[in-house]
Amino acid sequence: MMSTIKEYVSTSESPLTIFKFKNLNLNDENMAIERKEFKDFLIELSLIAQHIENKAFTLFEAGNQAFPAALSSFAIVSTGFNLDREDRRKDQKEICPFMNRYDPWTMTMQSKDTFLKTVENNDNVISCYCKVCAENPTVPINDFIEYNRQAKEHYLLCREQEMNEITTAIEKQDALMGFEKLQRSALKNLTEIIPR
Ligand SMILES: [Zn+2]
Repeated sequence: MMSTIKEYVSTSESPLTIFKFKNLNLNDENMAIERKEFKDFLIELSLIAQHIENKAFTLFEAGNQAFPAALSSFAIVSTGFNLDREDRRKDQKEICPFMNRYDPWTMTMQSKDTFLKTVENNDNVISCYCKVCAENPTVPINDFIEYNRQAKEHYLLCREQEMNEITTAIEKQDALMGFEKLQRSALKNLTEIIPR
């Protein structure tokens, strides 16, 4: 499959190629082979980008791969809010109305219960420096609309912060910065896909 993609990308006249992998989680323990293949794929893309003028790559629904993908060959990376919707299903019928929250330390989504436990273990203070968390130190546990609003704003602010860190890393030509951040997170397996 990779050779087909490679051939398509290098012969296509389009300056922008969009990739989308459905429900991809390369952080999974059992995905070592796929991580190796994805890394080779990223190396191929950056070689193509170097040799062909006006060539850019976009990754949609990047999920867990958003950070390492932005750190490597992709010019534009997108990921959704509801990637984790299935995890919010407490039984087969009901979806929890409280959306999952992004945890900037582990770089993964947390259920409401896990989030509340984390806050409780941190002297009831939300462990985040973003604007929305600073202005709303208490969790609105009985109001899912407000809870979800804050969760979304917090998500955007955290992701923006991460993308700024990537910009700084690229400006300083310091790929190690992003690498170390991933290594400290729950997504440490994804360090294997960063071409170094
Ligand atoms: Zn926050």
